[in-house]
Amino acid sequence: EKVLLECKNLKKYFETPKGMLHAVDDVSFKIGEGKTLGVVGESGCGKSTLGRTILRLLPSTDGKIIFDGKDITDIKPKDMTALRRQMQIIFQDPFSSLDPKMTVYQIIEEPLCIHKVFKNKQERTERVAELMEIVGLDRRYFNTYPHELDGGRRQRIGIARALALNPKFIVCDEPVSALDVSIQAQILNLMMNLKDKLGLTYIFITHDLSVVKHISDDILVLYLGKMVEMTSSDSLFEDPLHPYTKALLSAIPIPDISHKGKEAEIMKGEVTSPIDPPEGCRFAARCPKATERCFKEMPEFIEVKEKHFVACHLYN
Ligand code: SF4
Ligand code: MG
Repeated sequence: EKVLLECKNLKKYFETPKGMLHAVDDVSFKIGEGKTLGVVGESGCGKSTLGRTILRLLPSTDGKIIFDGKDITDIKPKDMTALRRQMQIIFQDPFSSLDPKMTVYQIIEEPLCIHKVFKNKQERTERVAELMEIVGLDRRYFNTYPHELDGGRRQRIGIARALALNPKFIVCDEPVSALDVSIQAQILNLMMNLKDKLGLTYIFITHDLSVVKHISDDILVLYLGKMVEMTSSDSLFEDPLHPYTKALLSAIPIPDISHKGKEAEIMKGEVTSPIDPPEGCRFAARCPKATERCFKEMPEFIEVKEKHFVACHLYN
């Protein structure tokens, strides 16, 4: 199996007035061509930052990113354009960054114009129509504005735009989180069909484990920038090992880490912050199984069963 993407000890830190924010902290994995890696965790755990760092939308602090056999960690701006055609992103709300006065046609056409893929307007129009067809949209929407469409159709446009340049790899950042549950399944099905048909490889970012259960080959669970568990989707759901993964699966409420609202007020001073994090396991303040050792010593990320990795002192 060919490895399309590899991250080696990837780190992304941000300087903040309060200290150094460890958004992505020593993340390593490989994704085989045509596979889907689900990346799961609560908001603020570093998922989106990981996705953006891999796409080189953000510079990394340390570590390596190997894409299609090439080290792209320190890619030069002049080589970025070619890479951008290979690697794309689908957002939760693809329109927040777009001009609301753009029509559906213009939104899908824009990457084709920027990258000068076609010589003339007619070729571009054919490509836009083809892209709309593969995401299940009629060309009668050409001159529609996204705000006139429902969430599912808007996300289809976001997908068509991401596919415009024939990428190999797509970071899907919470692409169904804003949609009604009934529409979520349709969009997930579409994305999986497109993956097979076009030979795509996905990183699928979500806060909701149930969303990635059926679509991921492997799942990586992140907690405050750290890898806490990684294995196949089947083995994660059959035998979750890390207390944080178990909490995510059981839907038992665990104290909020967002530092917003009442609950966070109560937890103040107890929940670990990703800013200048203390020694020890980052989940310790919330973990029902925590011992003294957990607050002092960071657990290593180790293989405890075949192809099942976990960072927790319970297993070491
Ligand atoms: Fe809980 Fe300790 Fe395991 Fe961290 S290392 S998850 S605190 S038991
Ligand atoms: Mg996010």
